[in-house]
Amino acid sequence: MRSLHPFTYLGDYIHGSFIIPKEKSSAFESINPGNLKDSLGTFHTSLSHVRLATDSAREAFPKWRALSQEERALYLKKFYKEIETHLDQMAELIARETGKPLWEATQEAQGLLGKITITLEEGSKLLSEKEIPNAQPKLMGRYHYKPKGVMLVLGPFNFPAHLPQGHIVPALFTGNTVVFKPSEQTPAVGQLMAELIHRAQFPPGVFNLVQGDKEIGRRLCVEPGMDGILFTGSYDVGLKIKESTLTHFWKTVVLEMGGKNASIILDDAAFEKALYENLKGAYLTAGQRCSATSRLILTEKISDAFLKEFHRLSKELKIGYAFEEPAPFMGPLISQAAMDKYLRFQGIAEREGAEVLMRGKALELSHCGYYVSPSISLLPNSGASQKDFPTYLGTEIFGPNVAVKIVRNLDEAIEEANKTEYGLVVSVFTKDKKAYEKVFHETKTGLVNWNRSTVGGSSKLPFGGQGKSGNQFPTGLFAPFYCTYPVACLEDSQDCIQETILPGLSL
Ligand code: NAD
Repeated sequence: MRSLHPFTYLGDYIHGSFIIPKEKSSAFESINPGNLKDSLGTFHTSLSHVRLATDSAREAFPKWRALSQEERALYLKKFYKEIETHLDQMAELIARETGKPLWEATQEAQGLLGKITITLEEGSKLLSEKEIPNAQPKLMGRYHYKPKGVMLVLGPFNFPAHLPQGHIVPALFTGNTVVFKPSEQTPAVGQLMAELIHRAQFPPGVFNLVQGDKEIGRRLCVEPGMDGILFTGSYDVGLKIKESTLTHFWKTVVLEMGGKNASIILDDAAFEKALYENLKGAYLTAGQRCSATSRLILTEKISDAFLKEFHRLSKELKIGYAFEEPAPFMGPLISQAAMDKYLRFQGIAEREGAEVLMRGKALELSHCGYYVSPSISLLPNSGASQKDFPTYLGTEIFGPNVAVKIVRNLDEAIEEANKTEYGLVVSVFTKDKKAYEKVFHETKTGLVNWNRSTVGGSSKLPFGGQGKSGNQFPTGLFAPFYCTYPVACLEDSQDCIQETILPGLSL
């Protein structure tokens, strides 16, 4: 039996100290969804900490902003060292709170290091100051990027460390201060991030942590002292945040939301590779990825053989407890509510006219948790459009489900791929580069992959969606842009007037 690192609830992290709320507004418990026994404790929320944390970040902003990029980088390098030292603990905690296998949680923890390196190396190049001689006749022009102020980071449960880190590191590096609210489903990972930042000795108030549910999230969003909201989560919540901040014209609202991603497999695809990549795309993290493949679009000739193998291998996936040996491919869903939704959608797909090729079921394994088997639904060959499946195809299920559609050719495949209001990722499997280029031109998503599944983006590239997937502020490599605003300067160092005096004006 593996012995686990102890975890102690410390409260919120405000102005450089952990504070247990005195007045406790509400509470929630964090329990491992993979065994329903391992409790990480009860976390309390405090309405008064919303203002306290925002004020602390506001107070710290002028001094933090005044540091040079190199000085701020030194703190981030210390944070890097702390993550490196506590990598196993971080991976273990991610696995315990999300239920994802330890190997996958370890990949997530390692990604935290990569994010710091890429931000320090590439982010500084993106935002380097530019000189534009003769921006106006005889005048030097220059533009600089300035930090926006206090950034609220709202995290999702599925990558509880990596995705908040994707906002926190660029925000801090570019001179903003941060208030972070982790998902109420993964508060312990949020606390460990704050502990590591504390150990890296950032100045008090530069980074703050407030634990909470949606009500705390909502109140943080409408805090007047917040300059930006950097949200990763579902479309429904993203929309609520947009609505609640409609009159807060000064706030940057960055929404990284869900997906209903299609993967197109053409007749000439490399069979085994396409199988592997699409099993990965559909079922990794039990389908709980914004980039998960939830629609497979197959052309006719390859469809029978592909579907047969895909179905066979879907039945053989090893599902289990995060710390089991040999390691499982995927773990449980995050909660009872997520499991209920997944199972409900089996019926919805069928009622709307899909043929159930593989039904997803709740699994009783040696560890008791929210484990489900994958599911595959076949959409009718012709005459079916998104309108025919308004709920099934219109909803991000966030579980290991794929809808399969068989089409005659690439044009039909693209038409099918475009039948969604989401627009995060599309993949195409083919040897024909022209077919890939056609998919690139005729779809509207933030990411287009060639012979590569929809999951697994790169921090060295922008990452963001169109439509219901995002609001035009890509994160990933481009995060420093939304954390700053460009300031244009016209500079004249001469005392004399440098232009012809305008008509009608005499000096
Ligand atoms: P969620 O939308 O339920 O919650 C996200 C965060 O928002 C949580 O911290 C939650 O407490 C907070 N929140 C809830 N209601 C709020 C409100 N009214 N105001 C302010 N904050 C509020 O998302 P989740 O279930 O934790 O995560 C899964 C979702 O995230 C999926 O839709 C997935 O596709 C999406 N996601 C997107 C990306 C991306 O990069 N585009 C990455 C990962 C996950």
